Amino acid sequence: MPKCVYCGKVYEFPRGLTLVTKDGVVKPLCSSKCKKNMAMKRRKVEWVRKSDTTKNAAKKVAKK
Ligand SMILES: [Zn+2]
Repeated sequence: MPKCVYCGKVYEFPRGLTLVTKDGVVKPLCSSKCKKNMAMKRRKVEWVRKSDTTKNAAKKVAKK
């Protein structure tokens, strides 16, 4: 299953779209919404899942 490069969502194959850039980098995207937002270089959109590095990781450790 591909993972959206923009929002980080894992989706089933017959969905979404795949961008292949000139240098051969494959970028799977879950929706045209993600494609458009990426084209506009939006990075701080609320629905984009943030990686488990900063706040989320700290919260998880605190819960344990
Ligand atoms: Zn997405």
